Amino acid sequence: MASNLTDRLSRLVKTMRGQARITETNVQEMLREVRMALLEADVALPVVRDFIARVKDKALGAEVIGSLNPGQVLVSIVQKELAATMGEGVADLNLAAQPPAVILMAGLQGAGKTTTTAKLAKHLIEKRKKKVLTVSADVYRPAAIEQLKTVTKQAGAEWFPSTPDQKPRDIALAAIDYAKKHYFDVLLVDTAGRLAIDEALMAEIRDLHALLNPIETLFVVDAMQGQDAINTAKAFKEALPLTGIVLTKLDGDSRGGAALSVRQITGAPIKFAGTSEKIDGLEVFDAERHAGRVLGMGDIVALVEEVTKGIDVAAAQKLADKLKTGSGFDLNDFLAQITQMKKMGGLAGLMDKLPSQMTAKTGAADMDRAEKDMRRMEGIMNAMTAKERRQPSLLLDGKSKASRKRRIASGAGVQIHEVNRVLTQFDQMQGMMKKMSGGGMMKMMKKLGG
Ligand code: GDP
Repeated sequence: MASNLTDRLSRLVKTMRGQARITETNVQEMLREVRMALLEADVALPVVRDFIARVKDKALGAEVIGSLNPGQVLVSIVQKELAATMGEGVADLNLAAQPPAVILMAGLQGAGKTTTTAKLAKHLIEKRKKKVLTVSADVYRPAAIEQLKTVTKQAGAEWFPSTPDQKPRDIALAAIDYAKKHYFDVLLVDTAGRLAIDEALMAEIRDLHALLNPIETLFVVDAMQGQDAINTAKAFKEALPLTGIVLTKLDGDSRGGAALSVRQITGAPIKFAGTSEKIDGLEVFDAERHAGRVLGMGDIVALVEEVTKGIDVAAAQKLADKLKTGSGFDLNDFLAQITQMKKMGGLAGLMDKLPSQMTAKTGAADMDRAEKDMRRMEGIMNAMTAKERRQPSLLLDGKSKASRKRRIASGAGVQIHEVNRVLTQFDQMQGMMKKMSGGGMMKMMKKLGG
């Protein structure tokens, strides 16, 4: 596994600590690492070159502030520049047209056009309270028309029928007519897929565009396409005035460098990201967050924010003090830590924000089990008396430990061995806390916060 860019740059700058400025010489070395990270994320080479040149301008002479080292400063310049390149702010769909506002979907076959059409229908219904009609102008694959029918139903929108013996422009005209008569706010037009750039089909979609005069022409592109995305994007940009991009399959293990390439080539904003095969797997594209992913850093900023938001600083400090004064870590503290975890959005919420390379091996089933475990542990500890939580020795080596455990198990509705397991885990945690002497949670948090 390639280590992330922050790590690599940090290693690099260890050799140049003490330098107050980013200089021409050290910036060269660091930019080589940035370049590698971008290429590994599948950003197209010309786009990388362009980007590096811009970052270099910004980086030269940038002050190294506070305790940060030059590597971190450069990473933050790179991340900001990446986010700015991929678009700033939120770019939702433009619907400012005489109804129906027409949205034309374009892209290669398999990019996710049909799925995205339905996802957008759902988004428009739920978030923008619109009345939405969909239609397929894909007369080459009857299955595509049927597929749109099925997913449109799932989205709760209306589907306008079309058949393979019709001409795409006749379908479009009929659909727009129907939409007008029935007061639809939005008409989503799915188009024929192309396996590769095909002149005849490009001419067809250009024709549809001229006929429909859509307010949005969305280019749907698969994030897994990597380097190839650049050629596809070029061809579609030449054929159509694109108004936005939907980057699909971001739930895959691609680092999503295609976002940068496609955005740069087309100049159109990335409006949405597809995050699953399901109908609700669509998110408004978040450039800053995506910049972290491209660099292989995950959403470190959001993670740190989330962590500090959930943390009760006073409680963590109290715990730290307690450990310092040697009064020991008891089951109340253990329970408090588990409650803290829950506040932070649980394990799954936390894992979501970590770099995908770190969490790839943790399946949904594992997370589910871990969450259940956490809740169960909480239940068991809540079934203890306050005194037992304060004096875990009563349960660990007290005379009445067996009957106490039996009572706790029946109170929490679990088996005795599960109570024992919690106690073992507590014991291990206590050992760890002692080793870290000075406050486990605080230290862990500090580590996370960098
Ligand atoms: P089209 O040929 O462009 O209309 O593509 P489809 O909508 O038929 O999608 C092709 C395949 O990609 C289907 O199996 C979809 O379920 C899948 N797909 C589409 N969007 C996403 C996404 O965001 N994530 C994942 N994992 N799969 C997606």
